[in-house]
Amino acid sequence: MNGVETAPGTSLAETFRRLIAATGPISIAQFMAEANAHYYSRRDPLGTDGDFVTAPEISQMFGELVGLWLADMWVRAGRPARPRYVELGPGRGTLARDALRAMAQHGLAPEVHFVEGSDVLRGLQIAAVPEARFHADLGQVPLDRPILLVANEFLDALPVRQLVRTAAGWREVTVDIAEDGSFALAAGDRPMDAAVPEARRGAEEGTLIETCPAATATLFEVAGRLARHGGAALFIDYGHAAPRTGSTLQAVRAHRKVEPLAEPGEADLTAHVDFAILADVARSREARWLGTAEQGAWLRALGIDARAEVLARVAPDRAGDILAARDRLVAPDQMGRLFKVMGLAAPGWPDGAGFAR
Ligand code: SAH
Repeated sequence: MNGVETAPGTSLAETFRRLIAATGPISIAQFMAEANAHYYSRRDPLGTDGDFVTAPEISQMFGELVGLWLADMWVRAGRPARPRYVELGPGRGTLARDALRAMAQHGLAPEVHFVEGSDVLRGLQIAAVPEARFHADLGQVPLDRPILLVANEFLDALPVRQLVRTAAGWREVTVDIAEDGSFALAAGDRPMDAAVPEARRGAEEGTLIETCPAATATLFEVAGRLARHGGAALFIDYGHAAPRTGSTLQAVRAHRKVEPLAEPGEADLTAHVDFAILADVARSREARWLGTAEQGAWLRALGIDARAEVLARVAPDRAGDILAARDRLVAPDQMGRLFKVMGLAAPGWPDGAGFAR
């Protein structure tokens, strides 16, 4: 992740202010890309002392069930030789560590490749999974063998582009500086009608369309690799299974939602993932879309309740915590419904467990 040059002691907000004063408003996509590059390069954002908690940090059951799903796919695909485990944005490496342990129990010991932009997080990942090899970009992971790929809360951090229908036609949503010096959203000057799919161009004034070109590009690449070299993939994130309109950009700092433009580089900026579009992209590359399930239903289908009971029996003093963690992952009013799991596989690979279609 290469951010804009920020002189030592200068905040990203100041850098943005100067840039906008000199060259005019910047797109939301540029704002989000630079803000997150800055954000992730400087800290470990995960955990109770950080800004947010992710599923693998809640319980080992999450990574274990992801590992089991991958092992099951691999076994039923006929145990192809020397697959690669590839994870995008592995955070602290917790998911990979738990998944690799579960895979090993089924005779699966893949070569491990991490795609990670942050040096701080790479340090934690190497401690969790010492054999991991690192890449700044998926394009650098060697081709030629089946991949077992996982991305949890990775796509939501990629920059979104927003287009809004104004009285004068479609415009890009940009970030400008308001009179009081704060950042403010503004419709750009340039007509952007050509960037809007024809079927949606006639939408009423005020309609906002959000797209994530980097997520689309990621799916294009992953699906192409699956189709050519075999394998299976899981994308897990909060988002929607059917297309929508409206902005979903949000910022979180210290477990609280904050104003997305207020503190660039100091809060985690995310947007909902549009799984419907991503499934279309995968299919257009001849990969199999296995389904997009709610996280709660998927984890239950994979046996999280039985796993929680076993863990609680082994450590009775922790039983309450284990069951509470299970609830956090699956309950509809917690992560169970908002988070989705999308499964993909190579043509000729089997259906995936947990995806009722
Ligand atoms: N998957 C982990 C971490 C989620 S946070 C978990 O579930 O706990 C997002 C992760 O994606 C971090 O590791 C962050 O550094 C990485 N990341 C975000 N944008 C990236 C980019 N453009 N390129 C590479 N890694 C990125």
